[in-house]
Amino acid sequence: MSGEMSATKPVLSVVIPIYNEESTLPELGRRLVSALERVTPDFEVVFVDDGSVDGSRDRLMEMSAADPRLKVLRLSRNFGHQTALSAGIDHATGDGVVLMDGDLQDPPEVVPELVARWRDGYDVVYAIKEKRKEGALKRAGFRVFYRLLSSFSNIDLPLDAGIFSLMDQRVAEVLRAMPERNRYISGLRAYAGGRQTGVRFERAARHAGDPRQTPRKLLRLALDALFSFSYAPLRLASYVGLAASGLSFVALVTILLVKLSTDLAIPGWASVMSAVLFLGGVQLVTVGIMGEYIGRIFDEVKGRPRYVIESRRGFGFAEASSARDAGSVPERRRSALN
Ligand code: UDP
Ligand code: MG
Repeated sequence: MSGEMSATKPVLSVVIPIYNEESTLPELGRRLVSALERVTPDFEVVFVDDGSVDGSRDRLMEMSAADPRLKVLRLSRNFGHQTALSAGIDHATGDGVVLMDGDLQDPPEVVPELVARWRDGYDVVYAIKEKRKEGALKRAGFRVFYRLLSSFSNIDLPLDAGIFSLMDQRVAEVLRAMPERNRYISGLRAYAGGRQTGVRFERAARHAGDPRQTPRKLLRLALDALFSFSYAPLRLASYVGLAASGLSFVALVTILLVKLSTDLAIPGWASVMSAVLFLGGVQLVTVGIMGEYIGRIFDEVKGRPRYVIESRRGFGFAEASSARDAGSVPERRRSALN
C-alpha cells in the first residue's frame, strides 16, 4: 500500500494529529523541522487534520507549500485523536515512524533521543512522561488509569507511556494489519511486541488553548483501553456472583439455625428489600458491562471504514480534494470500491 505513495521512502515519518491548533502550528513546524534536521534531512511529517474548524487547514497548506516534506491528510470530519493517528500511520512510509501530539506537549527536541535508541536496535521506543504540567485531578486520573490498566490487562503495558513514541516501519505494518475500530494505540503498540524500551521526558504544558481531548473523549478512550485489553470486567461479574451466592448460603444456614434453636423470628422486610435491591444493582451493572463488550463487537462487525479522507497534499498522487476515499477499508473490499 505504501509503495504507491511516494517514489523514495524517507528515513523518518512523523505523524501528528491536528484538531484546531492554528496558533500552535507555526511554532510546532519550526521546532519540529529543526529537531528533525539534526537527525536526517530525509524525513516527512504527516499532519492529519482531524476536521479542524479554525485556520489550521490554511496554516497547514502554507507550511506544506513552503516545505514539501510537510504533508497534509485532511479527514472529512472530526474522527478523534486515535483514529487520526491511525490514518497518519497508514500513510507513513519512513523506516521509522514517530507519533506525537500537535500541541507541543510532546517536545520535538526529544525525537532525536528516540531515534538514537531506535538506531541502537530497538523496534519501539516510547517516551515516558516524567512530570505532567496538568491539573492535579487529570494527573491523578492518568495515574490511576495506567495502573489499573496494567494490572488488569493481558499484556505488559508500560506505565505512563502515551502516544509519543517511535516505532520501526515493521511495527507500523503490524498496527496497520490490526483491523479493530476502537483503537487504543499505546496498547496495540505494546501488543506488537519486539524489542521495546522507554526514554523519560518532561511533558510540557500545552502551547496554546484548552485540551482538544475533552474529558468525555478521554473517558471513552480509557474505557476502550480497558475493554479491549482486559476481560477483568467480565470476570468481576462472576466473582461478585460467587460472593453473593456464598453470602446468601451463610445467611440461609443462620436463619435456619435461629429458627430451629430459638423462638425468635427474624424480622424480614428491611433485610429482604436490601438484598433484592443489592442483587438488582449487581445484575444491572453486569448487564451494562456485557453491553460495553457487545457494543464494541457491534462496531467491529459493521466494518465501516475507520476514517474518510477528504484530501491529501504532498503524497504525490490523487490530491484533488473531491476525491473522497475510505482510507481503511480492508484490501479485499477496497477493490470493489475503486
Ligand atoms: N486531537 C485530534 N482530534 C481530537 C482531539 C485532539 O486530532 O478529536 C489532537 C490535538 O490537536 C492534539 C492531540 O490530538 O494535537 C492531543 O490532544 P490534546 O492535547 O487535547 O490531548 P491531551 O494532551 O489532553 O491528552
Ligand atoms: Mg495535549
